[in-house]
Amino acid sequence: MQDIRLLRKSLETKKIGVLELVTDLLQKFETNHLGAVLCVNKEESFRQATEAQKKIDAGISEPLLGIPCAHKDVFVTKKWRTTAGSRMLANYLSPFDATVVKRIAESGAVCLGKSSCDEFAMGSANQNCAFGPCLNPWDKKAIPGGSSGGSAALVGAGHVSFATGTDTGGSIRQPAAMCGVTGIKPTYGLVSRWGIIAYASSLDQAGPIANSAYDCGMILNAMAGFDPRDSTSQRTESVDYCALMNTNKEKIVRKPLEDMVLGIPSEYSKAIHSQDVALAFQESIQTYEKLGATVKDVSLPHANHSVAAYYVIAPAEASSNLSRFDGVKFGFRNSRADTLDDLYFNTRSEGFGEEVKRRILVGTFVLSHGYYDAYYNQASKVRRLVLSDFKSAFEGCDFLLSPSSPVLAWELDAQPDFGINFKAPEGVPKEYLADLFTVGASLAGLPAISVPCGFGRGQFARRPIGLQIIGPHFSEQRLLKVADIFQTETGWHTMKPSNIA
Ligand code: GLN
Repeated sequence: MQDIRLLRKSLETKKIGVLELVTDLLQKFETNHLGAVLCVNKEESFRQATEAQKKIDAGISEPLLGIPCAHKDVFVTKKWRTTAGSRMLANYLSPFDATVVKRIAESGAVCLGKSSCDEFAMGSANQNCAFGPCLNPWDKKAIPGGSSGGSAALVGAGHVSFATGTDTGGSIRQPAAMCGVTGIKPTYGLVSRWGIIAYASSLDQAGPIANSAYDCGMILNAMAGFDPRDSTSQRTESVDYCALMNTNKEKIVRKPLEDMVLGIPSEYSKAIHSQDVALAFQESIQTYEKLGATVKDVSLPHANHSVAAYYVIAPAEASSNLSRFDGVKFGFRNSRADTLDDLYFNTRSEGFGEEVKRRILVGTFVLSHGYYDAYYNQASKVRRLVLSDFKSAFEGCDFLLSPSSPVLAWELDAQPDFGINFKAPEGVPKEYLADLFTVGASLAGLPAISVPCGFGRGQFARRPIGLQIIGPHFSEQRLLKVADIFQTETGWHTMKPSNIA
């Protein structure tokens, strides 16, 4: 799939029609066998396509007009079922659209359907979806990353120009990295959470997954902005997220990042597990140096506690958010219960998958009387320390660099391999530990982007690697610029599964 500006040109010059494009892509949805799509509504997609074509014919030119997209299945939609990847909501039709869905529709983009995700966005591999796993478009033996795996897989496969995702602890950045595409998690509060099925409300943030930083900027322009319906939505000035990006790709100044200081958190570099990831990361650092940036080591002293803190705070909030799924108000209901207690028990036992139950149990435990101080309170303190680590780091540098994941995309039906000497704590899925580089920015509410920066070697030559760039709060405009310059220089983001042997 071409980048958005090129596709817009083809639509404007009538090289291709919106309806023709949408028909072709919906066909691909049916034949790709990636398990990336949970729901289509052809009639509605064709209706939106016809509307967009009418506007194009009338000479209207909007940046996303006629551009095909998909929404992660945690954004509620009136015209498509919304399942959150759960049996609990298998037939749920929302009476309203999420703010993000509404804003993207108003921009003229055409929605082709809902993309697969881990159940209630809990996971790092998109293997926890009640309707089956999603596969990596580069290598069908590998996971696409999660929880927004369906969105990243669809963009990676070229079946949509962009897709929305949500990121609570890494779910935009990590699947973007593993599918060789670009994804940005904005500052907490920049994009409305209204109509997103909540996982952990103090961490959840929506953002775009697309083919480039520039495309992400265009989509963010449509998504971001104050929403009175979301009590944590920030009243920010309106910003053009593309304004600082190089619009004239041919003529880039020789050292465009001369004034830029980039920090490498040593706690993260030490934890890179894969040699291939380490190599790609080193090369990315060299690219930035070549572009004029000063690169220096920094420390985030509490980084090694961030995964533990995250996996207390996120389940705590999830246990509260998911209490609404009780078989009474909406969604799945067990029909064999004689008493109210049985109704709750049976509905929740059958409706939720194993990982969701694990988190509800953990979350309820850490919030319970007698354990609250030992777990939830401690984790909240760590969260504050993680934030102050980042604040100190940003006193000496503009942005932080790390890989998006310490490991390559792992095999389907498996857990990431941290080597034989590594033992995960009893009962903790190893994939939690693969979130080390992403959960910090989530706990601190910081914006962070993942851009493609290489591939594994040998048998892993079709496993993309992502570079994560983390910025201070509300630095999206500059963050996208730093990512865009990297992309102009390296071109990794232009690689697609179909044009690589
Ligand atoms: N892997 C993390 C988790 O399972 C992050 C998920 C997310 O960002 N939605 O909680």
